[in-house]
Amino acid sequence: MKWRGRERSSNIEDRRGRAGGGFGGLGGGSLGRGGGIRLPTGGGGGSRGGIGGLIGIVVVLGIIWLVSGQNPLDMLTSGQSSAPSSASSRQIPVEGQDELVDFVGVVVKETEDLWGQVFKASGRDYPEPRVVLFTDQVNSACGLADANVGPFYCPGDSKVYIDLSFYDELHRKFGAPGDFAQAYVLAHEVGHHVQNLTGVLPEFNRRRQSMSQEQANAYSVRVELQADCYAGVWANYAGQQNLLESGDIEEALNAANQIGDDTLQKRMQGYAVPKTFNHGTSAQRKAWFERGFRSGNPGDCDTFSGNI
Ligand SMILES: [Zn+2]
Repeated sequence: MKWRGRERSSNIEDRRGRAGGGFGGLGGGSLGRGGGIRLPTGGGGGSRGGIGGLIGIVVVLGIIWLVSGQNPLDMLTSGQSSAPSSASSRQIPVEGQDELVDFVGVVVKETEDLWGQVFKASGRDYPEPRVVLFTDQVNSACGLADANVGPFYCPGDSKVYIDLSFYDELHRKFGAPGDFAQAYVLAHEVGHHVQNLTGVLPEFNRRRQSMSQEQANAYSVRVELQADCYAGVWANYAGQQNLLESGDIEEALNAANQIGDDTLQKRMQGYAVPKTFNHGTSAQRKAWFERGFRSGNPGDCDTFSGNI
């Protein structure tokens, strides 16, 4: 991707290198059902960091279920947190990330330009999401999140969260190298922000309450595939801006393939269980990214009617 020298977003929130992305208040949190942590919002209540906070963290880490084989590029729901699975020590030095931070800033800026135009064309404002860079763990309006879950979007605070070491993982663990694979990840998460604005995400979070896990998974797949399609729409826009190099789209398609639920599950456990899919198969993810890329029109990203 030809991103160097381009303007960067002013919506990057750099919380890297902070212990847990700011843990104050954890002591006041309570464990919800399913291991979720509900953090106190607003004033007071929580103990301030220090020993109390550390004990809280240790207890939480001890209690929480182990996430294995979770699909990266998640979208969290309000009041539900992803589960820290272990005290991770795989952070890479913040000093080594300067170029990556610039890259993220440029990609985010290009998404702001695209979606700003799209919303403006239909007479709406596009409130830009903020993108939080963190190391290891972070507090969000969706709860305490661990880097192990991968990048995610939290509708409660309209922020995308990413530990940049995920990009290393995307390459090594998920077999998806290349800067445009990285751009796809960001564009997918921004796609969730768009869904939050269009009402798709709020409706999903409302309706899933009365659904079985299997139904909610099937619904989630449609939500996720739309975010993939929106990432494709952005890739089309990036092409119009002359940012694409040969091999870029292949990098994104390879990433979509590698993080398809079937491919992921087969890699982790040797077999796939379709009813547990919540992001879509490799074939579906590639197809919807490609559809968005070919058309460049978010109106072609209706994953909710008909077959996917
Ligand atoms: Zn997603």
